[in-house]
Amino acid sequence: LTRLYGPLTALSNVRVDVMSALVSFERVFEVLDLEPAISESPDARPIPRGAGRVEFRDVSFRYPSASDVSLASLEDVAALDRTVSEPVLRQVSFTVQTGQMVALVGPSGAGKSTTAMLLPRVYDVTAGSVLVGGVDVRDATLSSLRDTIGVVTQDSHLFHETIAENLRYARPDATDAELWTALDRAQVGHLIRELPDGLDTVVGERGYRFSGGEKQRIAIARLLLKAPSVVILDEATAHLDSESEAAVQRALTEALTGRTALVIAHRLSTVREADQILVMDKGRIVERGTHDELVAAGGLYAELYRTQFAVADSPRPFTEVETIA
Ligand code: ATP
Repeated sequence: LTRLYGPLTALSNVRVDVMSALVSFERVFEVLDLEPAISESPDARPIPRGAGRVEFRDVSFRYPSASDVSLASLEDVAALDRTVSEPVLRQVSFTVQTGQMVALVGPSGAGKSTTAMLLPRVYDVTAGSVLVGGVDVRDATLSSLRDTIGVVTQDSHLFHETIAENLRYARPDATDAELWTALDRAQVGHLIRELPDGLDTVVGERGYRFSGGEKQRIAIARLLLKAPSVVILDEATAHLDSESEAAVQRALTEALTGRTALVIAHRLSTVREADQILVMDKGRIVERGTHDELVAAGGLYAELYRTQFAVADSPRPFTEVETIA
């Protein structure tokens, strides 16, 4: 029995991980190479290489309740779900054209992270569909989904292993020269060159402790090696020191250039650059447009702009606010 329960417990931990965050998606999907709760369809087809167009068609979503999943049969879960949980997303539709950057903004709990998680199938939609490169993600092979979509979160995860090993999760056959190129583009090569063990430096609690900004840049190097055509970025809310901050921003610019990007945005500089801003509230898209259009419209975005973005980009916001006012 213990032999049976051991693996089951391990699996359920993985499942909890999958449900907790995008970074766990990366971890489970890319590293352990396990599938999340979601499996590949028997007639799955690959997303065309380099495809970048993202489309949400009338997407609604409810979170399944974990206790329901463990206690009931699948059909019962569906029944329970309908009665128990409220939709978190309702009729969400938008398109990100190849190479464009779309920013998701909105109050806490609006559904921004949930929207982003439907793309790599951390969860599947309750209704509607999500397409990447014209393929419904539920019909895509998991390997093509994993290759097409890259995720950068505020809390980048590195394993207690060497830097080289951490990077080669993205591309096992990468040469050392390619690792260095990625590290340089991610603005962290110089730092690793100064370490006595270089690429063989062990990262983590019992190894070399990189700062938050450094870890994020190593994670960006990993993304650059993987070279996905679609990037999901959950922008940091916490401030790093200004030097680290500038380096992370440069690394992110490298990571986003030439790719389709869906950014959960917290910075004025990002929303200003976005091709389209989607303003979410209570699970719906309530406004959409560019920064200037939305500020002029004087709705929820204009309010968020005054209260959230101006503060997040301090100490520069006052000049920005003055320019607008
Ligand atoms: P924030 O800016 O605070 O991160 P958000 O706009 O990203 O918020 P989501 O994290 O997508 O919002 O959450 C949308 C809603 O879904 C919230 O009401 C939240 O409580 C709920 N929710 C999020 N994760 C789960 C979950 N695993 N199970 C059940 N409900 C959840």
